[in-house]
Amino acid sequence: MIDLRSDTVTLPTPEMREAIARAELGDDVYGEDPTVNRLQAMAASMVGKEAALLVPSGTMGNLTAMLTHCARGTRALVGSESHTNLYEAGGASALGGIVLTPIRNHPSGELVLDELKRELATSQDSHFAQPSAVVIENTHNRCGGAPIALSHMAEVSDLAHRRGLPLHLDGARIFNAALALESRPATIASYADTVSFCLSKGLACPIGSLLCGSREFIARAHRTRKVLGGGMRQAGIIAAAGIVALTTMVERLAEDHANARALAEGLRLIAGINVREVERRTNMVVFDVDGGAAGARHFEAAMKDRGVLISAREATSFRAVTHYGISRADVDRAVARASECAAETLLA
Ligand SMILES: *Cc1c(COP(=O)(O)O)cnc(C)c1O
Repeated sequence: MIDLRSDTVTLPTPEMREAIARAELGDDVYGEDPTVNRLQAMAASMVGKEAALLVPSGTMGNLTAMLTHCARGTRALVGSESHTNLYEAGGASALGGIVLTPIRNHPSGELVLDELKRELATSQDSHFAQPSAVVIENTHNRCGGAPIALSHMAEVSDLAHRRGLPLHLDGARIFNAALALESRPATIASYADTVSFCLSKGLACPIGSLLCGSREFIARAHRTRKVLGGGMRQAGIIAAAGIVALTTMVERLAEDHANARALAEGLRLIAGINVREVERRTNMVVFDVDGGAAGARHFEAAMKDRGVLISAREATSFRAVTHYGISRADVDRAVARASECAAETLLA
């Protein structure tokens, strides 16, 4: 199977399995797991923050951040197309009593700044729930994996900070963003007060995300993580793979980006398939198909029959993600299969 559904399907590298087997361990709830401590220090330094906290998932990273930043009955301003708004099961509201206020995303993934300004200007009259944090996503998953320009990060940061609010960056794929923007993760994160990123996507770890911020914030987040049941014991088992990821898997993301560009170029030439263009492509290709919802279902099934998995989005659109384990030859094969399937299912 050529599995292009997501970069979360990546399996750990042989070096990670070795590191997991040999990891030096301790009880991390006591702060005594040396491998976790090493990973956290490494992560904090890579994104230019004072401290970091290992959490089981990106969802828990964002949730821990919001629960730590925002009091009950206050509003977190989040992108309408963001992971936080759409794909985290309403956790901030369910568990934190936080009102999620969606700010429209442009197709580029940037926030509509006039809407953000309007929401930030909420009257302090006691009728209104008060904004308590702004969340931005980079790269932007629903917007085709687009990296968000530093100039936009700066504008959003400035608006939040002028209102005295923290900015949290959902940097699940911050290393992809850095590569595409020809910047450093620490530069991207410098606009935000806190940042979370995933080890378990393109970096190919089995489990884990890091939430990073000031020492004071991370001390409070440590308690929030405990509340959520995310305090793990010999978590060095997870962290050992994370250290390998941060030392060996970051630069190879360039290969995924090149493969995604090749995939987009191949799909673009196929009648019945319309690739959504992005200014700078990272590891994703979003495309729409002709032939309506039924055609799309047939196309997806035909691809699966030929050994290619893609991820359905709306009725007639799909996402394909390149990652560790997908070679250039796999991309060429996937394009050839897509061409056959499109002729069969979309153009009839
Ligand atoms: C995957 C993802 C997350 C959440 O990560 P999980 O580990 O799957 O919980 C958060 N934000 C974005 C943008 C993501 O793509």
